[in-house]
Amino acid sequence: MELENQIALVTGGGRGIGKTISETLASQGAQVYLGGTNLETAEETAKSIRDKGGKAFAICLDVSKREHIQNAFDLIVGEAGRLDILVNNAGITKDGLLVRMKEEDWDQVLEVNLKGAFLCSQLAVKQMMKQRSGNIVNISSIVGQAGNAGQANYTASKAALIGLTKTMALEAAPRGIRVNAIAPGFIETDMTGALNEKIREGLMGKIPLGKLGSSQNVADGVLFLVSDRADYITGQVLNINGGMLM
Ligand code: NDP
Repeated sequence: MELENQIALVTGGGRGIGKTISETLASQGAQVYLGGTNLETAEETAKSIRDKGGKAFAICLDVSKREHIQNAFDLIVGEAGRLDILVNNAGITKDGLLVRMKEEDWDQVLEVNLKGAFLCSQLAVKQMMKQRSGNIVNISSIVGQAGNAGQANYTASKAALIGLTKTMALEAAPRGIRVNAIAPGFIETDMTGALNEKIREGLMGKIPLGKLGSSQNVADGVLFLVSDRADYITGQVLNINGGMLM
């Protein structure tokens, strides 16, 4: 058990990659709070973790709402007394070509993917500074590094997350807090399930390992980064992309 007695918050922990991250952290002994806008889904996932002997609780957390974030942190720190791990996983897409992109679609994606991570991290770092320890992992994306036609808002948010990761890592390192990012390639989830067959086929040709990734591939990266095995690693971006971008 690598994370015995550690307290973790995974935003968007109820489904997709966040669900597997939550399950993986819990399997290593962490007490995991699963945030989400859909409390029912988060509770279902939390219950399935508890049924397997893990410690997990669903929490109503829309990261685009400052008051939700404050309430979630008050609840976690009130109940558990600390926060050791924050995974900023919540993310949305609202795709469209730049020239047609609606301002509200730009704002919404930046609000959830970037500002949400900033606000959660701000409260997490304040708490972790008191503890003089902690780990934050931001889930960025391959397209934050390479760009992707039709995703100006999403790629900007994911590129900015990498900048945020590096600055937070610099500011928090003196207090024993590590901050890293993961840039997944194309992972089988609801998000990529929306891609049509033609796009999927095209993608395969660009992935040296010849397959989409699994949410477990990403969760294993998170587990590594938050564990003591990575205790000399901070401010880094771990690419989990089947070799698609090197
Ligand atoms: P899904 O669309 O399957 O799930 C999105 C998750 O984000 C859900 O858990 C959802 O929870 C949560 N979420 C959405 N909006 C909010 C919000 N306002 N507040 C809190 N939670 C929210 O996405 P994936 O699992 O595929 O993606 C997870 C992360 O990984 C995202 O940041 C994504 O950008 C990133 N990523 C994914 C890749 C992929 O190929 N799938 C590739 C690279 C990066 P709820 O339903 O409760 O709102």
